[in-house]
Amino acid sequence: MTTNLRLRWEKQLTAPAAPRPLLNALTIDVEDYYHVSGFDHCVSRRQWDHFPSRVSDSTLRVLDRLAEAGVRGTFFILGWVAERCPSLIRAIRAAGHEIGCHSYAHQLIYEQTPKTFLADLRQVRLILEDILGERVVVYRAPSFSIVERSLWALDILIDEGFLFDSSIYPTYHDRYGIAGTPLHPHCIERAGGSIWEFPPPVWRFFRYPLPIGGGGYFRLYPYGLTRRGLQAINAAGRPFAVYLHPWEFDPDQPRLHPGMIRAIRHYVGLRRTERRLVQLLKDFRFGTLTEALGEWLNSRPELL
Ligand SMILES: [Zn+2]
Repeated sequence: MTTNLRLRWEKQLTAPAAPRPLLNALTIDVEDYYHVSGFDHCVSRRQWDHFPSRVSDSTLRVLDRLAEAGVRGTFFILGWVAERCPSLIRAIRAAGHEIGCHSYAHQLIYEQTPKTFLADLRQVRLILEDILGERVVVYRAPSFSIVERSLWALDILIDEGFLFDSSIYPTYHDRYGIAGTPLHPHCIERAGGSIWEFPPPVWRFFRYPLPIGGGGYFRLYPYGLTRRGLQAINAAGRPFAVYLHPWEFDPDQPRLHPGMIRAIRHYVGLRRTERRLVQLLKDFRFGTLTEALGEWLNSRPELL
C-alpha cells in the first residue's frame, strides 16, 4: 500500500519544470490555544475539556482566507481535535487541502518512549483515517520535537508507512532544532527505509540559521523582514514551508498565564496574523507540502 502511494507520487514527477516562481508549502497545525507546548507547565491534559474550544471558528477563518486566495495547503491535525470536531476535518479535506498528523495529544516526542510515541501515532492516524476514509502519510511532530535524541521517531514513522515529515527545525531553540541539518527538503535514509523531510523555513542570515516565516517568528518580525528572508530562501533555489496555527488568528482567545517569555511568544502580534497571511499569499506561490516538494523535485531529478 505504502509502496504504491510512493510510486504514484513519484510518477507525478515527470512533467518538465515550468519557469515559474518556486511553489512553497503552506502548512497549518490544527490545535486549540490551550494545547501549545508553551503552556504544558500551567495547563494539564485533564483540563483540556474544561476550556472553551475555539479551534473550529479560527480554522474556518483560515479556510476562508485560503479559499479567497485560491490556495491549498497541508493541515496537520491534532487527534484530540479530530475526535471532537470530525466535521471540521471533513470540511478542511472537502476544500481540497492535504491532511497530515500532528500527534494525538501534543506530547513532545523526546519526553516519550518509542512505545508511547507509537501508540500516540497509531491513535491519531486511526482517528483521521476513520473520518476521511483515506491514508494519511504526512507527519509533523508537536513543537518540532524530533531532535538528536528523538531521531528514533523517524524509524517508527517509516515502519508505520509515513512518507513525508516536517518536524526537524534546522536551527537553535530551547525546545527544538537540529542546527546543521539541510535547509532544503531532503530524503532521510534510515535502517528500515527512507522518509522525505521538508524542514520549517530557515534563512541563512550571515552565518546564523534564522527561523523565519512561521508561528511566533511570523508575528514578531516586521513583515518586510519576513518577506525578504523568504525571498532569499527561494532565490537560493529552496522552497519553504510556512507554518501557522488557528489560534494565531484569534486575538480574543482567553488569556492563560505561562510566564513572561512564553506569554510573549504566544500572544505577540495576534491581531496582525490574518492581514499578514493575506499579504503573504499574494507575495508567494503556495500549495500543499507534497505538491511543493513534488514540483521542486521535478526540477531536481538527481535528488530522487
Ligand atoms: Zn502543535
